[in-house]
Amino acid sequence: MRRRRRSPDRLPRLEIKHNVEFVRALFAETWKRIPAVCREVIREYLSTRPATVYLCFKMDAGNESYEPFARVRYFDNMTIITFLEPLIYAEPREPIYGIIAHELSHIYRRAKGLWSSDKGLEERESSALSKEWGFRESSTDAVADKWIEKWREENMLSKGHLTEKRLFEAFG
Ligand SMILES: [Zn+2]
Repeated sequence: MRRRRRSPDRLPRLEIKHNVEFVRALFAETWKRIPAVCREVIREYLSTRPATVYLCFKMDAGNESYEPFARVRYFDNMTIITFLEPLIYAEPREPIYGIIAHELSHIYRRAKGLWSSDKGLEERESSALSKEWGFRESSTDAVADKWIEKWREENMLSKGHLTEKRLFEAFG
């Protein structure tokens, strides 16, 4: 019997709910830049808690004073990753790779038992890790804010109901 070799760049278990090909390509590009040993840790974690990726019209499920770009929620048997939808269409792409890597670094820390409920600490550590992987993060500037608001105006009718809060209500 011939054994098939697993491609090291193969993505972990990931179900993408919207704009599948586009989002998968963003994840694939990010994934191959993460060190192989770390990818294995994330892959192992997601093998029993498969991730579903949702794009949200608004990231309103937390109690932050700002709107986050993305978030990971952890369950015993699944993982939910949410992104602020307009953000993922921004160009250049580098910042979105940084954001995806940052979310994956949270999952890595979770898998390693390093995850902290101290939000400030967890954010600092995750940012440090994704930086170590070679990604850089950026914050939105006035231009991005304007672009996000413009996207929301244009997509209000078709996507206005796809808020993070409503999505999470369904998961309890
Ligand atoms: Zn974070």
